[in-house]
Amino acid sequence: MLSLTLKEVSLAFREGRISPTELCRKCLNRIKKTQHLNAYITVTEELSLKQAQQSETRLQQGVPLGPLDGIPFAVKDNFCTKNVKTTCASRMLKDYTPPYNATVVQKLLDQGAVLMGKTNMDEFAMGSGSTDGTYGPVKNPWTYAEPYRTQTGAAPDSDWIVTGGSSGGSAVAVASLTSYLALGSDTGGSTRNPGALCGVVGLKPSYGLLSRHGLIPLVNSMDVPGIFTRSVNDAAIVLGVLQGLDVRDSTTVPAPSSPTELPEDFDVRNICIGIPKEYHAPGLSEDTLAQWSRVADMFEMAGARVEQVSLPHTQYSIVCYYVLCCGEVASNMARFDGLEYGHRGEVDSSTEAMYAATRHEGFNDVVRGRILSGNYFLLKQNYQHYYMKAQKVRRLIADDFNSVFGSGVDVLLTPTTLTDAARYSDFSQEDNRTRSVQEDVFTQPANIAGLPAVTVPTALSRRGLPIGLQLVGRVLEDKKLLSVAQWVEQRVGFPSISDCDIGMIKMEQTSAV
Ligand code: GLN
Repeated sequence: MLSLTLKEVSLAFREGRISPTELCRKCLNRIKKTQHLNAYITVTEELSLKQAQQSETRLQQGVPLGPLDGIPFAVKDNFCTKNVKTTCASRMLKDYTPPYNATVVQKLLDQGAVLMGKTNMDEFAMGSGSTDGTYGPVKNPWTYAEPYRTQTGAAPDSDWIVTGGSSGGSAVAVASLTSYLALGSDTGGSTRNPGALCGVVGLKPSYGLLSRHGLIPLVNSMDVPGIFTRSVNDAAIVLGVLQGLDVRDSTTVPAPSSPTELPEDFDVRNICIGIPKEYHAPGLSEDTLAQWSRVADMFEMAGARVEQVSLPHTQYSIVCYYVLCCGEVASNMARFDGLEYGHRGEVDSSTEAMYAATRHEGFNDVVRGRILSGNYFLLKQNYQHYYMKAQKVRRLIADDFNSVFGSGVDVLLTPTTLTDAARYSDFSQEDNRTRSVQEDVFTQPANIAGLPAVTVPTALSRRGLPIGLQLVGRVLEDKKLLSVAQWVEQRVGFPSISDCDIGMIKMEQTSAV
């Protein structure tokens, strides 16, 4: 039951094979059994059961609200949830309880979906490992699955692997079957990166298609709510519910169509797939490269046009991203001053000393580092040299995409990450920030240009860990993008989530040790 798709669960409800409260209990149970993965910061047990009960009543009265009624979902802890703690995995907000729901959360609740809890992440969504939050690192459930353990002989509790980030908790909620869908955020890859490394679908919609109201900002000009599901069609259903104009976010745009379901048998013969040559980046693993070629060949054999294309400014995207990111971070984080809400440093010698103590104690060093860099880039004497230059590079990167899409390419096919997921011991040994910076090389360009992009799990690596491929589409052509992604999903033969579940059962035994 826990591994069904959204459509299947909805049907199971209507046929009376399971009730929303029974399903909610099963998920709550599983959250307890998988606690060691550290995916949730807050579990909303009482509220979940109440919402499930309401959904059950609607079903009994024959008035279910739609495909999400009664469906358990999880939310990254940087989306405001009314009367439910929203911490951004930071000491700064550890006791913050918002008085309102983010628009995307409200839309899910309006559809009758059942909130299971708030998920773990990198502090303020800065990172690529989900290792940098104040509640400790999130563990990848594939660590405990059969393939990884037999291929590597690893001892799960000492050799565990990371989830990617920064929305690792949400990816794990979906991968370990404690929620059917989860919200992440995606500023530079934070939904696609953990989606790829945890073997689930991770969608970053076009910028502006989903409201950011109530999403605690990282980089306003790039942030988008992300969607994690176990199938591409599920992502399309959720996108259909969440998209569209919001008066509370002036950057939103009207939805171009009202997709809910995708066509079962999409014809790729009229589709042109672009393979960007610059994405053959240093550090790309052999396994990932092999999957990338395999899927490109599949397209070719099915009659799609597959063309090598060039995005010449790709090499500048990481630097461009970090200058713009830090600039916006410095400005966004200014609101955390210990006065209105959040942590306050207990120093009363002067206002300045109170600010300093608040921000020193409240933020981790990643956040403080970005604030410092951002303020440096924005100094009067540096502004032209860094911030304005990065804005110009941003335009060049966007123009690269425009010219490729303008020449007839419909969708780009690329790797999502350089390699499969790292062991925590390796990830934390290297300079974490350097690693984090490199890992986003394939994902950040889509944020810089505002394009829709999705990761689809395609295979297990030789280490028995998931590898995802990314598809990037034209702006606001999210539905076409998902149709192509579903075509890939139907053909790659990624092990089903229930196979992964075999490992989960073992995990429950080993974790008792
Ligand atoms: N890893 C990138 C960063 O640290 C992207 C994060 C994100 O998408 N939220 O900024």
